[in-house]
Amino acid sequence: MTDRAEVVIIGGGIVGSSVAYHLAEAGCTDVLIIEREEHQGMGSTGKSAGGVRAQFSTPINIQLSLYSIDFFSKFEEATGQTPDYRPHGYLFIATSQAHLDYLARNRELQARMGLKNVESLMREEIVKMVPQLYSDDILGGSFCPTDGFVDPNSVMTGFAKRARQLGVRTWLNTAITGIEVEAEKIKGVETSRGYVSTRKVVNAAGAWAAEIGRMAGVEIPVMPLRRQIVNTQPFDLLPSPLPMVIDMSNGFHFRREGQGILMAYPDPDETYGLKTAFDPDFIEKVLLCAVKRVPCLADAEINPSRCWAGLYEITPDHHAIIGTVPELEGFYLANGFSGHGVMHSPATGRLVSEYVLYGESRLLDASPLRLQRFAEGELLEETAVL
Ligand SMILES: Cc1cc2nc3c(=O)[nH]c(=O)nc-3n(C[C@H](O)[C@H](O)[C@H](O)COP(=O)(O)OP(=O)(O)OC[C@H]3O[C@@H](n4cnc5c(N)ncnc54)[C@H](O)[C@@H]3O)c2cc1C
Repeated sequence: MTDRAEVVIIGGGIVGSSVAYHLAEAGCTDVLIIEREEHQGMGSTGKSAGGVRAQFSTPINIQLSLYSIDFFSKFEEATGQTPDYRPHGYLFIATSQAHLDYLARNRELQARMGLKNVESLMREEIVKMVPQLYSDDILGGSFCPTDGFVDPNSVMTGFAKRARQLGVRTWLNTAITGIEVEAEKIKGVETSRGYVSTRKVVNAAGAWAAEIGRMAGVEIPVMPLRRQIVNTQPFDLLPSPLPMVIDMSNGFHFRREGQGILMAYPDPDETYGLKTAFDPDFIEKVLLCAVKRVPCLADAEINPSRCWAGLYEITPDHHAIIGTVPELEGFYLANGFSGHGVMHSPATGRLVSEYVLYGESRLLDASPLRLQRFAEGELLEETAVL
């Protein structure tokens, strides 16, 4: 069977769905999403913690967040689906002068970029917000009330449904097995369901982006890295609502998830690879961090059915890769979100649709995220990675 489409999107997660939505809204509806799983959202999207924040340390990440958070606040009008955006805030806690200075520098930059509501907090104010914290070593912190959470599956579904209403097609259970290139131009894709002739392919394959790149002869520096989440049973010794609280000394963070508490931290022992099984030893590791910062969490009971693992898609500078590939006409990248693909999905979809339709980014200058930055040595530095 041979088919054809103006644009083929590889991967039906939150990013591929957002690209499809933005293309369709701009009038480009001859779009085909190809997803190898039985349902959309079975990659990283369905494993995400749904955190959304604008408290970043580089201009480009702040810009992506500003557009995206504003979009989440109007998501239902745009797509007909609630994103379950809960602006409960992100609270960063510093226990060293270096981290306190870092937050102050970030706040200045954030204000210059138009993010005006980030507050500097003294220890007493932090304790007032979350009285259960161990606070003897806390020097201060930073809080942004419009940061918060969304439901990743609802956002993905909202984008995908609206795109479908506008004419976008989706093939599930269909794997991309090859990409045909002729004279440095995209010609088509091989799939488990047959050949699709197309001039434009969007790589939205999440942690598998490098594999898709290789099919087209393009090196994309995205590495899969396992991230794990632990949830407790209903727990009422912490406030509700609760912001996302981040202990900057070790990256441990927690928030409310329903009546329980969701906890995670960047395990320094984790190694790259396509590992998606939850490691029960992680529970002990996360609890050690938890009890140190929030002693009452020693009384929380873990909910084993709500512990899971998924993949971050890490780039060498922990920033996304968005844009074109100079040596391959018709190949577009929406990759390497390094753990921020849910929160940045609206801006990414918009920017990639602009590259596809106009050959350039118009919403904002996305050139800092170009693939060539790695070869050019123009890496970005984002140290606030969660
Ligand atoms: C534990 C955890 C917590 C996280 N927390 C947050 C958070 O708080 N906030 C945040 O913004 N982000 C978070 N993330 C990151 C976020 O989930 C990802 O950045 C985001 O989901 C990426 O979306 P995507 O659509 O690019 O990738 P995916 O959702 O992985 O979609 C890619 C799709 O491509 C498909 N695919 C791959 N190869 C092929 C092929 N050959 N043929 C066809 N289809 C293919 C896959 O099946 C998959 O469905 C978290 C991730 C994890 C694992």
